[in-house]
Amino acid sequence: MRVAFIYPPLFMDGKIPLLGQNRQFKFTHSKEIKIFPLIPAYAVTILKQAGHEVLFLDAINRGMTGEAFEKELKAFKPELVVLETKTPIIKFHWEWIDYFKPQLESARFAICGDHVSFFPEESIQNSRVDFVVTGGDFDVTLAALVTHLEGKAVMPPGVYFRDGMEIKSMGKAELHRNLDSLPFIDRDLTRWDIYGEAYLYRPCAYILTGRGCGREGKETGGVCTFCIWQHAFWQRKARLRSPKNVAEEIEILVKKYKVHEVFDDNESGAVWSQVWLEAFLVEIEKRGLKGKFIISSNARAENLTEEKCRLMKAIGYRLLKVGLEAGTTDSLHRIGKLENVEDIIENVKRAKRYGFKVMLTMMVGYPWEDLKDVEQTYKVAKELMLYKTHFGDSLQASIIMPYPGTPLYRDAEKHGWLTEDGKDYEKMDMEHDILKSHYDNKYWCQKMWNIHKDPVFLIKSFLSLRSIRDIALALRGVKSLLGHNKDY
Ligand code: SF4
Repeated sequence: MRVAFIYPPLFMDGKIPLLGQNRQFKFTHSKEIKIFPLIPAYAVTILKQAGHEVLFLDAINRGMTGEAFEKELKAFKPELVVLETKTPIIKFHWEWIDYFKPQLESARFAICGDHVSFFPEESIQNSRVDFVVTGGDFDVTLAALVTHLEGKAVMPPGVYFRDGMEIKSMGKAELHRNLDSLPFIDRDLTRWDIYGEAYLYRPCAYILTGRGCGREGKETGGVCTFCIWQHAFWQRKARLRSPKNVAEEIEILVKKYKVHEVFDDNESGAVWSQVWLEAFLVEIEKRGLKGKFIISSNARAENLTEEKCRLMKAIGYRLLKVGLEAGTTDSLHRIGKLENVEDIIENVKRAKRYGFKVMLTMMVGYPWEDLKDVEQTYKVAKELMLYKTHFGDSLQASIIMPYPGTPLYRDAEKHGWLTEDGKDYEKMDMEHDILKSHYDNKYWCQKMWNIHKDPVFLIKSFLSLRSIRDIALALRGVKSLLGHNKDY
C-alpha cells in the first residue's frame, strides 16, 4: 500500500503549532523547537520494512507552504493518509479531512494521538475519517491495520471504524510487549537532521529508550493527573528496551550519522532503573562508544540518587530535564506527582553537584493555588537555577492544561474549576485560561522564563562557556527565549 503519515501546515497569527512529540500543545513564536515525532517515525519505518511505500510529510517542521505540501501529497497518490492530532486542533483536522477526502479519491484516512485515544467515536461522528487508531503504540497498531486492509489479517484491537450506521472496534488498544522487536527508526526516511531544540548540541537525534514513566521498585509508573500520555497512551505503565538494543541504535547514530548528542524523550527516560543503567554502561564500553557521544534525558527528580548520578556520569549523560512542576508539596500531591518539594530540591542540587545540566519544567495556574503558592514556585525555580549554575542550565514554564480525558480534567469538572472555555477544544492552546486561576498566569509564566535573564545566572552561565559548540547553543537559546517571551 501507499501510506502517507502527515502533519499538514498550520499557522496562527505568525505562530507555529507544537504538535508532534509534544505532550502540551501551544502555538509559539519560537522557531527553535522541532521535536522529532518518534512514534510516527517508528510507524513509517515498520511499514517500509513490511514492503509498503511510505511518505513522511511533516509540513510543520519542514516549514512548507500549503501549496507545496498539497503538491507533494497528491503526487504520492496515497491509499491511506494518517494524521496525528491533539485536542486544540482536532476540529481543524476534521475539516482538513473533509476537505481533502474528495480530492484524494483513492485514499482512506486515519487519525491517531492522545485525544482520539480517549474519545475515538467522536472523530468518526464529526468528520469523514475512516479509522481512528488509538493507544500509544499506534505505530504497531497502524501497521496491523494496513495488513488488515490488504486482506491478510483481521482488524486489530484499538482501531475504531464505521460499519454501516454503527461505530465498531475489536476492543481496547494493546501495548506491544517487546520493544526490542521493533526496527530502528529509518532516519533518512524521516529526515532526522531537520529536528532539534535550542538546548541540544548538534548534530542531535531523538530516541526512545522505552515507553512510559517508570518508578524504581514500583509496580505502577507515574500517575500525574495532567500527564496526558501516561494516561492516554501508556496505561500508567512503563516498558524499557534492553540496554543492548539501545546501545546498538546509538552506535548507528554515532558511526553512520555522526550524531553528537542523543536525547531520550521517553517519559522519564530509562534513568529510573539502576539495573538498566548498569547494563547500558557495560554495553557502551563493550562497543567502544564511551566518550563518543553524549546523552540527555527526561528524568524524575527522585532518580537523582548518588548511585544513579555516578552511573549517569560514567555513561556520559549531560542534561537532565526534570519536572519541578510546583514549589509546594501540597500542589505536587494534588497533581499526583508522588514527590515532596524538599526532596526535589535536594535531588536536583545533587545532580548539579555532579555537573549535570538541569532543565527544570514547571507550571502555573493551578486552581487551588493563591499568589503565595506561585511565588513559592518562582522562589524554588530561582534557587535551583542559581545553585551551582553552569552553562546549559535552563527552565521551561507553561500553564497547566487539563486535557479532556485526563484525571485532572475530571477533577476540574468535579470541583467546578473549569472556565467556560474548558468546553471548547480549540481554546486549550495556552492562550486561554481553561482553569480558574487566582493570579495572572501569563505574567507568572513570563516571570519564570525571565529567570534566564537574571544577572547572576547570566554571569555564571557566561563564565562556564567552554567551546564553540557552547556558543552556538547559547545563540540558539537566546533566539528561543525571545520567541517564548513573545508567546506570553
Ligand atoms: S513524572 Fe512526568 S512523565 Fe511521569 S507521570 Fe508525572 S508528568 Fe508524566
